[in-house]
Amino acid sequence: MSFSGGMDIRIFSDKGICAGLTQAPDLSDVRRKEMAEEAERTGGYLIRPCLTHGVRVLPITRGFLEGKTSYIEIEDCDGAVTDLENVTLTSTHGDCIPIYAADSARGVIGLAHAGWRGTADGIAAVLVLTMIQVYGCSPQDISVYIGPGIGRCHFEVSRDVAEEFIEKLPWCEDYIDEGAKPGKYMIDLKGINAELVKMFGVSDIEISPVCTVEDENCYSYRRDGTQKRMLAYIKK
Ligand SMILES: [Zn+2]
Repeated sequence: MSFSGGMDIRIFSDKGICAGLTQAPDLSDVRRKEMAEEAERTGGYLIRPCLTHGVRVLPITRGFLEGKTSYIEIEDCDGAVTDLENVTLTSTHGDCIPIYAADSARGVIGLAHAGWRGTADGIAAVLVLTMIQVYGCSPQDISVYIGPGIGRCHFEVSRDVAEEFIEKLPWCEDYIDEGAKPGKYMIDLKGINAELVKMFGVSDIEISPVCTVEDENCYSYRRDGTQKRMLAYIKK
């Protein structure tokens, strides 16, 4: 567990998987560089999706890694899945939701970055579908952790965003409340992401109660307008 800085929120530690989220004042770039150096030293790889708020989730296979250096940036990508050892999947977060997934039976791990666009477009579903269709995972073996991110309490949006959610995911009305201000709505991104993975048969789901806007151990774009980010990571 050489990644442990002592401050990380640890996820899936009962499954023998190294996964977590760094916390302030740790900076994502610094921690990712350390992890990339560790990967290089040990013949592994570090994956950095470049995060476009899209829904592309890339399977990291042996074929994909062939001929590549240990530090790999992937354009137009918001998530990754792998069954290979010593491949660290990463993403950066400052209110957007990290979605971690693991299938201990088949040894498959995944990580996705879900802001509001990715949530509305269903990246959580793409993550578990990639595990099911590409890696042959059974939904009942998949555990999902919806990590710290902006909560329903603080994710206030205008009517057009709320309408886009209803248009794309008509069932998500339950996850949208009218806000205190006229014309404003509060959206539960974590709840919608959990519902999206449930639809594909995943029932082992845990949702972090931490709202990044409220928690001082978190970087929050909405609270501070900061460019500082937390690093989500997972490795088997
Ligand atoms: Zn909040």
